[in-house]
Amino acid sequence: MPVLDVTTRAGLARAITLVESKREDHRAEARELLGAIMPRTGGAQRIGITGVPGVGKSTFIDGFGTMLTELGHRVAVLAVDPTSKRSRGSILGDKTRMARLSVDSAAFIRPSPAGDTLGGVSRKTRETMLLCEAAGYDVVLVETVGVGQSETVVADMVDFFLVLMLPNAGDDLQGIKKGVLEVADLIAVNKADIDERAAKNAARAYSNALHILEPTDPDWHPPVHTLSGHTGEGLKELWDAIGVHRTKTDASGSRARRRAEQQVRWLDALIEEGLAQGFASRPQISARLATVRRDVAEGRTPASTASDELLTLFFGHT
Ligand code: GDP
Repeated sequence: MPVLDVTTRAGLARAITLVESKREDHRAEARELLGAIMPRTGGAQRIGITGVPGVGKSTFIDGFGTMLTELGHRVAVLAVDPTSKRSRGSILGDKTRMARLSVDSAAFIRPSPAGDTLGGVSRKTRETMLLCEAAGYDVVLVETVGVGQSETVVADMVDFFLVLMLPNAGDDLQGIKKGVLEVADLIAVNKADIDERAAKNAARAYSNALHILEPTDPDWHPPVHTLSGHTGEGLKELWDAIGVHRTKTDASGSRARRRAEQQVRWLDALIEEGLAQGFASRPQISARLATVRRDVAEGRTPASTASDELLTLFFGHT
């Protein structure tokens, strides 16, 4: 079977279908394909984008992505939504939400893989990102909503993580998940066209909140911008800031380090997932697991004794 040519739109779409498939023979083909394209991956600026539903993510991505293709970039838009079901109309990355970008020949939009765990969606999105890079897309935007751990998962696959906020939310900083501020490389108060003063006030509040946090990268103190995906105001400044981040983190080595750490964490997660699956699917284990869990829950067996018993059973049979 010849390796797919991902540089054509149809080839790329077929390759993504392959990495999204659960079939064992497709997985084997996908592994072969990913191995073959590996030297052509890693070249894109990977940008994660999060924000609550209604904050304006699709409007922003439509405007920002169009600005980038006008600048000569090729833009891929991917999505991570562990709750998405393909059959259910409005989902992240849905083309109808990005009217201009969806008809732009320099852009490629792929909705979130549906009906899967966050781990499954994350694997498929990472692999799709590699395919898009091999296909020549030099900017990859990965969109997510703040469902469970999805923000952290996306922040851990990109070079730059953008958090979109609403102007009025600045009054209620308690409402923001602290974890989101910790992974933000830039906060943008969106819809600044509605009330510029409110947006500026919110930006100040976020800026203060960020100052309290220890920056994760000593070379980069996450700035706060105001923008409007609707009018396009602030989009150029945002792209400039992403460029400055890239230059600084390239020079200091922290960009390469971030990617390397992401890869190793990803490897560890895959190993852990594989072990957990292998463990639970072993007949001797699954036959005992429910009883052992009950014994531990009801205080008859210490957890450590129970885990020793099951692990001995598991490793004793490998
Ligand atoms: P998403 O759910 O985060 O993808 O948000 P959408 O992009 O679908 O936007 C939600 C609503 O806010 C829509 O009615 C948009 O027209 C509107 N909207 C999005 N961005 C802006 C903006 O910058 N300014 C204004 N005034 N409205 C916006």
